[in-house]
Amino acid sequence: MRLSKGTRVVVASHNPGKVWEINQLIHPYGLDAVSAGDLGLAEPEETETTFEGNARLKAVAAAKGSGLPALADDSGLEVDCLDGAPGIYSARWAGPGKDFGLAMKKVAEEIARRDGWNGAGPRANFISVLCLAWPNGDVKTFEGKVFGNLVWPPRGGNGFGYDPMFVPKGDVRTFGEMEPHEKYAISHRTRAFAAFKAAMLDEISPGAGEAEPEGRDIVAFSAAAASLSTRVEAAAFIGRLKDDLAAHRDQWKNVTLESYLVALERQLGTMTDSNEPAWRQLAKAMLAASNDV
Ligand code: IMP
Repeated sequence: MRLSKGTRVVVASHNPGKVWEINQLIHPYGLDAVSAGDLGLAEPEETETTFEGNARLKAVAAAKGSGLPALADDSGLEVDCLDGAPGIYSARWAGPGKDFGLAMKKVAEEIARRDGWNGAGPRANFISVLCLAWPNGDVKTFEGKVFGNLVWPPRGGNGFGYDPMFVPKGDVRTFGEMEPHEKYAISHRTRAFAAFKAAMLDEISPGAGEAEPEGRDIVAFSAAAASLSTRVEAAAFIGRLKDDLAAHRDQWKNVTLESYLVALERQLGTMTDSNEPAWRQLAKAMLAASNDV
């Protein structure tokens, strides 16, 4: 099965940032992304035991529910000396409050329990699996990994999740100490997208092999919004949003204060109630408002 120009692709996510980012990737190839949330599709529970299984489960559910090809992703951190943990439970190790300080501490303690803190630090990798599913049940999956070592204590305030304790091979800085574009250039997610692009997109575009346009780092932004909990984190997030407006003004849909506030009001008004921290809900709405039309 192939993707052809004019195809609408469902992104099996309710995260507007993720949908926007995938649209950035596929739009130049004449494809359009629409979110599972916009189509009113429910989010299935991630009950599988592998990244591939969970990505597949989400993509297949969205493809069957919509009658369109669907893309889903699943990602996490794997630590060698912990037999791959936290793995598919990477988000869950942060608890209901999505506290990644706590999750990183848990990883560090588990490693200490196994005497893993020696030499260059325990080996680990991030992994991202993308799955493309068709309504007839056909699927294709694409994987990206970035290898490195863990450090303790965590370093750097950029990125999200486990970034401050992960040093990619060939660098001495953690992902948390890198600029977003430096991390994005080598990240597992970028590599999974590259595999997807090479197999599914390049063949339908005469622009194959051209340089990527400079873009907003929406993956990093939406992940940062989705993992913040406190007022201080929200303030840092707003600071990054402000820097992003200065750097990528042409890629924001609402650049006047008035249109931005109208979009923010709309985003907050249409969000469904959730148990997430209010600061996180506000951050998500603020990010979405930058792309809202
Ligand atoms: P999901 O694929 O959105 O469910 O993300 C799973 C979890 O993996 C996230 O909540 C993070 O804890 C972790 N994770 C995935 N990618 C990254 C990354 O690039 N940096 C840090 N943590 C990550």
